[in-house]
Order: sequence, then structure tokens, then C-alpha cells
Amino acid sequence: MKLLVVSTPVGPLGSGRGGGVELTLTGLVAGLLQRGHELTVLAAQGSELSLACAGAALWTCPGALQPSCQHQGREAPVTLPAGGLLANLWRRTLEAAPRDRFDAVLNLAYDWLPFWLTPSVAVPIFHLVSMGSVSRAMDAVIIEVAAWDQRRLAFHTQAQAADFSLPSRPVVVGNGFDLEAYSFCAEPEPLLGWVGRIAPEKGLEDAAAAAAQLGERLAVWGLVEDAAYAAAVEASVPAGTLDWRGFLPTAELQRQLGRCRALLNTPKWNEAYGNVVVEAMACGVPVVAYRRGGPGELVEPGVNGLLVEPDDVAALTLAAQAAVAVDRRGCREWVERHASRQAFAARLEAWLQGGLPPSRTIGSQAVA
Ligand code: UDP
Repeated sequence: MKLLVVSTPVGPLGSGRGGGVELTLTGLVAGLLQRGHELTVLAAQGSELSLACAGAALWTCPGALQPSCQHQGREAPVTLPAGGLLANLWRRTLEAAPRDRFDAVLNLAYDWLPFWLTPSVAVPIFHLVSMGSVSRAMDAVIIEVAAWDQRRLAFHTQAQAADFSLPSRPVVVGNGFDLEAYSFCAEPEPLLGWVGRIAPEKGLEDAAAAAAQLGERLAVWGLVEDAAYAAAVEASVPAGTLDWRGFLPTAELQRQLGRCRALLNTPKWNEAYGNVVVEAMACGVPVVAYRRGGPGELVEPGVNGLLVEPDDVAALTLAAQAAVAVDRRGCREWVERHASRQAFAARLEAWLQGGLPPSRTIGSQAVA
């Protein structure tokens, strides 16, 4: 297939502003390239593709960055800034897709416009939905696409998809990671870890409280989206509990993360997947998480981590202690079985081919 992948308008690839979508895009593009497809990525000006995606073309667009949906509030109207990147990306997509004969467009942005366009244009647009329910306007437009043709939608986990009133069973594609990019670390340090955007929905304060209870250091990696929130968390625990390590590229992140004895994952929202959960496991780090959203589905208690009831910091503290009993090799093996880039690409390919009109399905008997 000849595919156009449209990235998020909240920030350039490589900046960290796109959160998990940036790594998802890398896994998706690299995996589909490996399967012999032809890929073009359309993203914000200033974007960089990782080496694994060198076989894809990169097109960029200027424009004002889109505010991220999850920080607008559930009742917020749809926002489109003047000279906005989102509109520029989709103008370019609608011009290029028929002209350059793309078989399909794959949208990774959790924004209203591309969903709303989908039933009205001849270009086959598919959406890999990257969050659960965060706003009424987004819920409505996702359900509208589903009611029109649900084959155009895929989700990362069942827990995420369950947020939407879908007419049919959802396509769930998980996510995919390059196992070679993560080294297994058998001998950890006495250090707890936490990774994510530093923003209220990620619940860093609970992990900080558990580390403080245990008198252990918590290393924190991630982009500070909300500086006031970061300062409040820092002030909530004894000085020296939090070891702020900043936002690192994957190669360095995994090198440091692998040295943790456990990762604490404490989101307050219905996390769609939780890339960092699987990245930690790939390094051999057991994950202690709330039984909520994607992490609640990815963590198999005793196999790759432990689960506790959501928002129960006392239980989180006990489980963080108990995580030493989880076999680190088992964590890595779980990722090899469930979340390889190859398996993810095969699931994506099946989803796209299943949703294309027969005359456009390359590889089937019905090629036009
Ligand atoms: N991340 C990173 N460097 C860091 C911290 C985080 O590259 O120092 C990346 C991480 O690899 C993951 C993303 O940030 O892909 C966070 O994604 P996740 O799915 O956990 O949450 P989201 O931000 O999408 O809500």
C-alpha cells in the first residue's frame, strides 16, 4: 500500500509534545516499511523522523500548534487557532491524497477536524485513536465515524475503546516496539522510576507519595507540560525523594530506565495504552500500576508487574515493595510475545486492508 500518515498537530516529532503518539508513529512507520509498504509522513514543521523510519518520506507543514484536547475540559468547544497547523495538515492531505494516488491516509491526531471530514471525502481516512474519552465533542465525532463505517477506527486497548459507545466490536491493535532498541538489565539499582508527561492526568503525586513512604528515590523522566503541577508534586514529598532526569531520547531513556527496580505507573485518567509501561518491561523492569485503562490491561500480575486498585496509595506502596519478587526476564519476554513492532505492523496491515474498498486492496485478488 501507498500510505500517508498524518501526525499530531500539538508539536513537531522529536519534541516530546506529542506524548506517546511520537513513539507510536515511529513503530507504525518502521513496521509497515518492513512489510514492504510505501510511507509518507506529514507532520509539524521542525519534525524529525527517527533512523528506523529513514525509508519514509517526510513532508512538513507550518502553522500555529493545536492545544491538546485533554487539557481543554470535557465541555470545551472545538478550538482551531488562526493559521492553525491542524487545518494546514488536512488541506495538504486532501490535495495530495488523490493527486499522488495514496491508497489510504492514516490519522494519528486526536482532533475533531479529521474525524469530522472522514465520511464526507472520497479519500479513505483511517484513525488510530490515541486517547480515551476526554471531551464530549470528540466522543460525538468518533461515534459519528463509527456509525458510518467503524472499520475506519482502531484503538490501542479494549479499556480505551470501552470509553466510546461503539456499534460493533472495536479493532484493537495494541502498540509495537523495536525490541533491539531496549537492552535487558538484570541487575537493577535500589531505585524506583516514573516516566510520562508531567501533567495532572498522569498522577505523579501518587508515585511520589509511595516513594516517600518507602524512603526510596524516584527517578522521573518526561517533558514538563505543567510547571506549577511539577512544583506542587516536588513540594509534597521530602526533598531528595524526586530525582528529575528531564526528557530524554529513547536510547538514553531506556539505558537509565533499565536500572530501576520497578516502574510506578499511576495515571488518573483512562490511559489509552501506556507506552512507558511496555518500554520499562522491555528493559526487564516490573511495572506497578493502577487497575485502570491500558496499564490495567497490559500488566499481568506476577508476570510483568503488579496491579492495585486505582488511587490507593497505601496499596501502591506495598506493591512497590513486593515487586522485587517479579522475574525481570519474564517482563522482557512478555513484550517479545505481545508488543513487538512486527506483530503491531501485521495487525495494522490487516486493519487497513479490511477497511479499504475492495478495488483498492493491494495484495488481494481485487486490485483495480
Ligand atoms: N518519553 C521519552 N523520553 C522521556 C520520557 C518519555 O521519549 O524522557 C516518551 C515515551 O517513550 C513515551 C511517551 O514519552 O512514548 C509517553 O507516552 P505514553 O503513552 O506513556 O503517554 P502519553 O504522553 O501519550 O499520554
